[in-house]
Amino acid sequence: MTERLPVRWHVARVAGRHPETPSAVRLELDVPTWPGNHAGSHLDIRLTAPDGYQATRSYSIASSGHVTRVVLAVDEVPDGEVSPFLVHDVAEGEQIEVHGPLGRFFVWEPSDDPSPVQLIAGGSGVVPLFAIAAAREREAQGEQFRLLYSVRTPRDVFFAEELAGLARTEVDIVHTRTRAEGSMRPAGRLTLDEVAERTFPASLSPRIYVCGPTPFVETVAGWLRGLGHDAQRIRTERFGGSR
Ligand SMILES: Cc1cc2nc3c(=O)[nH]c(=O)nc-3n(C[C@H](O)[C@H](O)[C@H](O)COP(=O)(O)OP(=O)(O)OC[C@H]3O[C@@H](n4cnc5c(N)ncnc54)[C@H](O)[C@@H]3O)c2cc1C
Repeated sequence: MTERLPVRWHVARVAGRHPETPSAVRLELDVPTWPGNHAGSHLDIRLTAPDGYQATRSYSIASSGHVTRVVLAVDEVPDGEVSPFLVHDVAEGEQIEVHGPLGRFFVWEPSDDPSPVQLIAGGSGVVPLFAIAAAREREAQGEQFRLLYSVRTPRDVFFAEELAGLARTEVDIVHTRTRAEGSMRPAGRLTLDEVAERTFPASLSPRIYVCGPTPFVETVAGWLRGLGHDAQRIRTERFGGSR
């Protein structure tokens, strides 16, 4: 049973901001009152304009454990309200309000379940799955992990260096728009056959986490059920949008 952590509003200070991809930023927030969070959870950010107008959006947390430095990675939705501000404008030292930690279902913790774990990400949907793979890395023993990551081009890979350094998760990246140098796979969206070939089969009864834009998650979850995976073993997180 996942430990229940207290959920409330906190004041966060932007401690660092670094380019993550050409369209995304990595934000490091110092949240002195943060109770820690499980790998895979998210928080809400609330921005307040000088005239009092407020906008709230959810962001997955790339960090986990009992720490007060919270890491996010935000991709710009060009006509969006909140993400362009976070990607371009929010400055180091600025304070923002965050609510969390949220999401007790889409989290991973070490367990006695020996079945393998399959992570499947589309675009920025890799953020909570990276947190899960990074948490798995801290455990000496445990299940076999695989990450299948669909992303536009090699330059759009989030946490590229960290993913390349994972020792306990097999990482498999497919590109939808530009193929990687030396790759035999032509650029294009994931197909049902590829999901069947590149993920753990239903016979191994893997626990599966799927995260990304809503249409990606719904398509992949439907394929997985069609491939014989038990729906109870498939956890999904939808980021919204139509990409
Ligand atoms: C649980 C959860 C976790 C999330 N984690 C992350 C994360 O780690 N990193 C991240 O970058 N985003 C994440 N998101 C998405 C994020 O909450 C916002 O939806 C996104 O940043 C767009 O907000 P916006 O205010 O810029 O756009 P809005 O003003 O809300 O929307 C502008 C337009 O873009 C469309 N749109 C909205 N969201 C998306 C989207 N995700 N993709 C494409 N089009 C979209 C809308 O339909 C609308 O047409 C998460 C969403 C959820 C529900």
